Order: sequence, then C-alpha cells, then structure tokens
Amino acid sequence: MSITIFCPSCWSECKAKEKICPSCGADLESLDKRGFSEKLISALYHPEPLTAVRAAWILGQIKEKAAVPQLIEVLSSSPDPYIQEVAALALGKIGDGKAVDVLSKKLLDLNSYLIVRIASAEALGMIGGEACEAVLETASHGADGALKEAITTKKDNP
Ligand SMILES: [Zn+2]
Repeated sequence: MSITIFCPSCWSECKAKEKICPSCGADLESLDKRGFSEKLISALYHPEPLTAVRAAWILGQIKEKAAVPQLIEVLSSSPDPYIQEVAALALGKIGDGKAVDVLSKKLLDLNSYLIVRIASAEALGMIGGEACEAVLETASHGADGALKEAITTKKDNP
C-alpha cells in the first residue's frame, strides 16, 4: 500500500516516496508535520470556501485530533453547507466522542441542510457506540431517501 501525504505548501496529494511536490515543487523532505496541521486548522476559516473544504477533508484523512474543536465550531457555525458537510465527515473519520453532540444536533435538526444531515449520520456511524446508535435510531423515524440510506447502511456495517 502506498502512503499518501499532502504537500504542506499547496496541499496536493503526493506519494510518500516523492521528495519534491509534483504540483508546486516544494521540498517535501522539510515537511513539518506539526506546522502543517496548524496551517490546515487555520485554513478552516479561509475566506475561499474551497480552501476551507479542502483543509477539512485533509484533516479527516490524516485523522488530526487537534482539529476536533475547530471542526466542531465550523460544523456548528459555518453558513456554508459544503464546509459543514466536510467538517462532519472529518469528525467521523477522526472518531472523537466529543463530536457526538454537535453531529446529533445537526442530524436531528430538520432545518439543517440535507447534505449536512446525511454527513452527520455517516459520521455518527463511523464513531459508533451506544450514544450514536441511539441518535441514528431516533433519526431513522421519518427519514427517507438518501438520509435513510445513510442511517441504515451504517447500522448494518458497524
Ligand atoms: Zn505542492
């Protein structure tokens, strides 16, 4: 299995064996992992939405626990449904129990965007455990279409 890393300069996906980023030419060997995560976390608040979405996605891929409070904040307060969606999925991938409250709130709130409710259901399925199962059970009543699918698929594959 080849390990994927992310260029600390342009955030392109790179192969771990590459020494120079093929997209921007940055020196990957000088990659500072801690500084990299801090940079990603601050990019969650980037004015360019695609940058914020990409940062949230990468934080999920690298399971960056240090980003959990900020991802929770973005999920709760960003006006952008796409950022909320990616933040919810990232919280699921990171798997921190601290995210269960906000994910539950988003899933059960009928005024949440549908893509955010679906992502929250998937994230709760990824985190797992009794509290998540109970919320998914509650949410399954009255759910239909893609939301129901997101809830029930995870239930069958714990
Ligand atoms: Zn690069």
